[in-house]
Amino acid sequence: MPEDCEAAPASGQECNPAPPSTSKLSQPCIEPTAHYDLVIIGAGPAALAVISRILETRPAALYTEDEHRHLHFTHRQRAPLLIPSRLSKTSKVRPTKVTPSEGCACGGRIKILIIDKLGEGFLGLWRRNFRALRISHLRSPMFFHPDASDFDSLIAYANQQGRAERGEGELPDLIEILGVVGKEKSKHRRKQQQQGALEGAKVHVNERDRRDYFTPSSTLFEEFTRQLEHKYRVQSGDGCGESTWPSVSKLFEDAEDGTSTAASSETLVEGSASTDSNPLTTVKGVVKDLVWFDGSDRTVQDDLGNHSPGFLLELADSSAQTAKSTTVISAKAVVSAVGFGGVPTIPSYLTPPVPQPPSCGPGWMHSSCLAWQPLPPPSTSDAHLVVVGGGLTSAQIVVLALTTGYAHVTLLTRGHLKSKPFDVDLGWVGRYSNYLKMQFYQTDDVAERLHMLRAARNGGSVTPTYAKVLSRLQAAGKVEIRTHTSIARAEFEGKWELGLRTSADGGREDTVQADYLVVATGAKIDFAGLPFLQGLRRTHPVSTVGGLPVLTADLEYRRDVPLFVTGAYAGLQIGPAAGNLGGMRDSADRIANRLLELLALPEKEERKVREASETTAGEAAPANSNKGRPKKEKHFTHFNFDLLSVEA
Ligand SMILES: Cc1cc2nc3c(=O)[nH]c(=O)nc-3n(C[C@H](O)[C@H](O)[C@H](O)COP(=O)(O)OP(=O)(O)OC[C@H]3O[C@@H](n4cnc5c(N)ncnc54)[C@H](O)[C@@H]3O)c2cc1C
Repeated sequence: MPEDCEAAPASGQECNPAPPSTSKLSQPCIEPTAHYDLVIIGAGPAALAVISRILETRPAALYTEDEHRHLHFTHRQRAPLLIPSRLSKTSKVRPTKVTPSEGCACGGRIKILIIDKLGEGFLGLWRRNFRALRISHLRSPMFFHPDASDFDSLIAYANQQGRAERGEGELPDLIEILGVVGKEKSKHRRKQQQQGALEGAKVHVNERDRRDYFTPSSTLFEEFTRQLEHKYRVQSGDGCGESTWPSVSKLFEDAEDGTSTAASSETLVEGSASTDSNPLTTVKGVVKDLVWFDGSDRTVQDDLGNHSPGFLLELADSSAQTAKSTTVISAKAVVSAVGFGGVPTIPSYLTPPVPQPPSCGPGWMHSSCLAWQPLPPPSTSDAHLVVVGGGLTSAQIVVLALTTGYAHVTLLTRGHLKSKPFDVDLGWVGRYSNYLKMQFYQTDDVAERLHMLRAARNGGSVTPTYAKVLSRLQAAGKVEIRTHTSIARAEFEGKWELGLRTSADGGREDTVQADYLVVATGAKIDFAGLPFLQGLRRTHPVSTVGGLPVLTADLEYRRDVPLFVTGAYAGLQIGPAAGNLGGMRDSADRIANRLLELLALPEKEERKVREASETTAGEAAPANSNKGRPKKEKHFTHFNFDLLSVEA
């Protein structure tokens, strides 16, 4: 136990012995090794979007002027004066030299720690998935990317690199997403259609938008995101799945024994320009636990010795061997950017329902496993592989299996095999997607929002391109597609014997033999089950619907707990595209606005602003729009759709 309790309890607090617990955070005298203004958990595209939005001085506007007027969460945009992150003399962590920087909205005065399980740079998991499934092109359009500086920066990058007209391999770098231009409806058209003027008429998107509806190659997108990493001076992955970020124990080891450094990423990036003002530190590891001190009882201490409300986080190495030794740090705010959290949904015929099911076993694997191990090659020349799932990943695995040498593949889907360009309906994806978003924001009922989310996704789907590939393979006799079919029984003894039930055929069951089984059944949607939230949920509960948290409009866990949530778990506030590259930029915008406001304030002012913003959040919508609404729903994003003018 540390000798003094200076960092944890507020002045004058007694330091009582802690009850026995596995978490270090339950010890009242625990002293954090380092303090950060912000800790981001996860380094996928959602985290990169947050970083980009914080560090860009002039972020692109995501909403029209008209929409801005009716969305209270966009009202706070300003250039805040952020707290300096110079370290106090007593700190054991080497100070990051801080010089206010012109090119960064935070003026170089905010200290951010990014912690990721993989430590392979930003998008480590994304890149592993794309390599494993040999995905040549993204599914999303050109304006879906994590760069906050410009809506069109990916197109600009492709042009700049001379990649807009050509490709590196057999396929061009930009492929037009067919069946989109001419199908999307503009706001104006929709309004007209609602009024009956266009009943039955065909609607077209202006031809000028055609260039948006191309999808970038994986290599182009990878180069684009690496260039962003370089811009923000973050160490990239090496492209071979090796960790490049230091582990928690390495980063903090010297600080723990009082000798030296918690290296910021400035020390890691080769060939980058002046690194003095880099606010980012990156580390490979996991957050085991976190607690929030609201300042009434206990506080955290920043590098200048100021006490304020804040989090304590317990960090551990990702590798099982060293995970036992943990490090405690403090932070003013935290962003959770962990996707769905990485727990796969495993059908009960493979493993009984347990909180952390295995993602592979004898003769089978979940699709998420492919990021870590290749598909086992077939042992015979007539090997048969069965794929379960109706999403794009299933179709990609079918092709992968045939390329790996399986002679025959059966694809099982619970419903129809649906084909659409994007995983959510087109109206949520285009330039005019704000229309559907505004409709979504108009709904205050959480259950209704969940219904809208599910309806927009409507289960899994494959792209028209993959639908064509599958039907070609089916015609060639290599693939059998069995729709409305699920596995009723599965026995494995060196080979699978699978009892298949087809609902469209009166529940008829037949038996097939297979050598290998891949289930592409997605991830478990269970925010409340995220391991690092277990303690916080007990002290500060949050409600969930369909596994998704009911966050504030600013994507805070609760108005009194500045733990922000981005990515798919922000779905009830952002809409069905929350888990896609486009939705992540939306989330980043909301988080940054609130975050910069919180971090800019002197601590004693913070509580006042929290209270004030609670009131204004409820008041932002016109008075008559709140009639009859229960009080507890006031913090939900609200938009008065009727006041939005229609584009001419
Ligand atoms: C194969 C595939 C293709 C896709 N293609 C597209 C596409 O073309 N366009 C599109 O818009 N969307 C696409 N998506 C959907 C979505 O954009 C991706 O899933 C995206 O990776 C989600 O980003 P994220 O940052 O939310 O989460 P992730 O990319 O999953 O990143 C989360 C990170 O958090 C880390 N992490 C998790 N838990 C912890 C913890 N406790 N402590 C520390 N770190 C932790 C993980 O290691 C991971 O690096 C695709 C998804 C898949 C699976």
